[in-house]
Amino acid sequence: MDLSWSESEQAFRAEARAWLEENLAAWHAEHGGRDAIASGDTRTGFSQHLTWERRLHDGGWAAVSWPIAYGGRDASLWEWLIFEEEYYRADAPPRVTQNGIFLLAPTVFEFGTPAQQAHILPRMAAAEDLWCQGWSEPDAGSDLAAISSRATRVDGGWRLDGQKTWTTRGAFCTHLFGLFRTDPASERHRGLSYLLVPLDTSGVTVQGFGRLDGDEGFAEVFFNDAFLTDDAVPGGVLLGDEGAGWRVAMATTGSERGLTLRSPGRFLATAARLIELYSAAMSAAADGSPTAPGQRMGRRLHSLRPGLRERIAEAWMRAEAYRLFTLDTVTRLAGGAVMGADSSINKIWWSELDCDLHDLALELLGPGAEVEGPWSKGWQFSLSGPIYAGTNEIQRNIAAERVLGLPRR
Ligand SMILES: Cc1cc2nc3c(=O)[nH]c(=O)nc-3n(C[C@H](O)[C@H](O)[C@H](O)COP(=O)(O)OP(=O)(O)OC[C@H]3O[C@@H](n4cnc5c(N)ncnc54)[C@H](O)[C@@H]3O)c2cc1C
Repeated sequence: MDLSWSESEQAFRAEARAWLEENLAAWHAEHGGRDAIASGDTRTGFSQHLTWERRLHDGGWAAVSWPIAYGGRDASLWEWLIFEEEYYRADAPPRVTQNGIFLLAPTVFEFGTPAQQAHILPRMAAAEDLWCQGWSEPDAGSDLAAISSRATRVDGGWRLDGQKTWTTRGAFCTHLFGLFRTDPASERHRGLSYLLVPLDTSGVTVQGFGRLDGDEGFAEVFFNDAFLTDDAVPGGVLLGDEGAGWRVAMATTGSERGLTLRSPGRFLATAARLIELYSAAMSAAADGSPTAPGQRMGRRLHSLRPGLRERIAEAWMRAEAYRLFTLDTVTRLAGGAVMGADSSINKIWWSELDCDLHDLALELLGPGAEVEGPWSKGWQFSLSGPIYAGTNEIQRNIAAERVLGLPRR
């Protein structure tokens, strides 16, 4: 095993680092400074973040591992990991296009026809079409096979009825990829289809709603006898075969949980910031200034949290372990393997690691850091990690039954 990067990979890293440094500064300046940029989960912040997405695209960094013809730069998956490390190291903004680029696109590459790929992917990379995920329903979350939204075959297209919920950034997007029951006589995982729906289709209503943190990052999407024409998306609105929606959806969850949604770069950067926070607290404590916040923090660290340093080191090691594990995943994928049920174990790993990294920062900072300060938003969002992309309880069930082969009861 050779864990070193080649010269061309190191050159790729240097190019990415330089581009990010220059363009992040320019993007911040364009919006009146970093602090003037709102959360991408608000309407104002979303449109600010779109200017970043288009800058990434113009520079060829929106989807680095895609073919150039689709808006990528033909980079390898290893180079994509390098780019992600640099992206988070530079503290670049969350990708508001993530549900298209990191969830839908791998499935379009796997199941899309050439015509669908040629239409959907370049527009997605350029942030012209903005995709949201329409799977969960009020009565079908963990139990996704219980969905009741229907698509009925009619002349020239489909009639859609039903409701989706928890649609991330749905109120700001242009298109939805959703699961619908296309065989009315079917039950559970059978008879579902994976449809691509422009949100301006007549009969579709999108209603944004706020999260606990005040950002309006979710939407409910209602389908009321909506008519989805077969050519509403050039190349066709059906992704994969009619009735094969569950299989197509499982491909989306495999790449989402196993690789594309949360790359190691994100957690390596958080672990590095955590260690900086700890070191700053230690030096301030050693300085002896009685009024410095770090002095108070340092005292608290020594007197109240004797095992804190070891727990921080352990969290850093878990982030490093995730990096090494992901290199192995990418090596297996490059060798032709496909993501399977083991992606559930991966998802448990990164979501619990994110919670622990943020909890440790809050322990260092003390009371109040949950609601304000540089770690507060990240900590609040980390709490949703064990829920989105399928709850961790469900991932444990999947891992127990399908990876370890344990009996269902
Ligand atoms: C930040 C965020 C973004 C999201 N974005 C989207 C999106 O863009 N599109 C979309 O479609 N959905 C999205 N979701 C929804 C998400 O997929 C669901 O919240 C998730 O699947 C759980 O479904 P539920 O909320 O209905 O909870 P429920 O399914 O009602 O589960 C409630 C609790 O019961 C537990 N539970 C349920 N069944 C079992 C079981 N068999 N064994 C053990 N425990 C069980 C669950 O683990 C959970 O703790 C998002 C969620 C969050 C938090």
